[in-house]
Amino acid sequence: MEQRQDRFSPDPRYLVQVRHLKQYFPINTGFLKTTMLKAVDDVSFDIKKGETLGLVGESGCGKTTVGRTMLYLYKPTAGEIWFDGQKIVPGPALTQFRRRAQLVFQDPYSSLNPRMTVADIVAEPLDVHKLCAGKAEREARIRELMGLVGLNTEHATRYAHEFSGGQRQRIGIARALASNPEFIVCDEPVSALDVSIQAQVINMLEDLQSRLGLTYLFIAHDMSVVKHISQRIAVMYLGHMVELAPANELHHHPLHPYTTSLMSAVPIPDPRESRRQKRIVLEGDVPSPLKVPSGCPFRTRCSRAAKACAENAPEFREVSPGHYVACHLV
Ligand code: SF4
Repeated sequence: MEQRQDRFSPDPRYLVQVRHLKQYFPINTGFLKTTMLKAVDDVSFDIKKGETLGLVGESGCGKTTVGRTMLYLYKPTAGEIWFDGQKIVPGPALTQFRRRAQLVFQDPYSSLNPRMTVADIVAEPLDVHKLCAGKAEREARIRELMGLVGLNTEHATRYAHEFSGGQRQRIGIARALASNPEFIVCDEPVSALDVSIQAQVINMLEDLQSRLGLTYLFIAHDMSVVKHISQRIAVMYLGHMVELAPANELHHHPLHPYTTSLMSAVPIPDPRESRRQKRIVLEGDVPSPLKVPSGCPFRTRCSRAAKACAENAPEFREVSPGHYVACHLV
């Protein structure tokens, strides 16, 4: 992965390229005292066209902030976002990007306006980006989008609160698809749903991906969900990316102690294998992002931490083709 901030040239194999992304939020920590909360601190990665990159980590690790900053819902503190060979900066490039990149929200209950009908919710991006020439075209497109996500088109005039959680998430996905995007950030799209519904929504996302050629950043805290849908997986801890590798490689050969612990919690279907599985439980809590430890951010919970870990931050480097890790001992 290219590390220099200057002279970056985009690689046509990738739809999305993120370089040295930082997102800091000023937090009031006392009388006239402000501290920077480093939600995302120097994160770089690429996503290939048609690929799903899973982004996993505990709650508060910065993964949602990465997704939202990539979509320019928050202005980045520093760093670059490249999309289809073009650097995203405020102006015409950002307007175009906002049509071509969309977000599916985590909570299908709060993300849909209860006073709007399904038709109006789904058509919102059509109206914002002026994508339909007239009423008939708008209605036809609404029917098409509802059909794509398996919703009954006769329910277009109903309100969102009349639907179940799974159906509401389908409405959210139809809205995200309305502008014909190429890239979708799926921010924990199934974590608010019943387990029985989760598989249906994930299968639908996979089906839509192959039919429409979509590229996903799939954010989740549950490694088993991410492992199922992603070709590659990135792991975040306290605003930093600590490991990135093909899903299979990360599953069988996790290198970072934090990834090893996450992987040890993924259930194994085979009972004999499962009995052999050794669960690695991390000690202590995630430190406050306002007080990130010196050196390696994971060192306060790492059983292998050495003196060097407190002194220098490990570099995020490629240790085998396509496998990146930030740990002094690897
Ligand atoms: Fe643990 Fe040190 Fe590696 Fe950090 S750099 S993960 S503290 S061994």
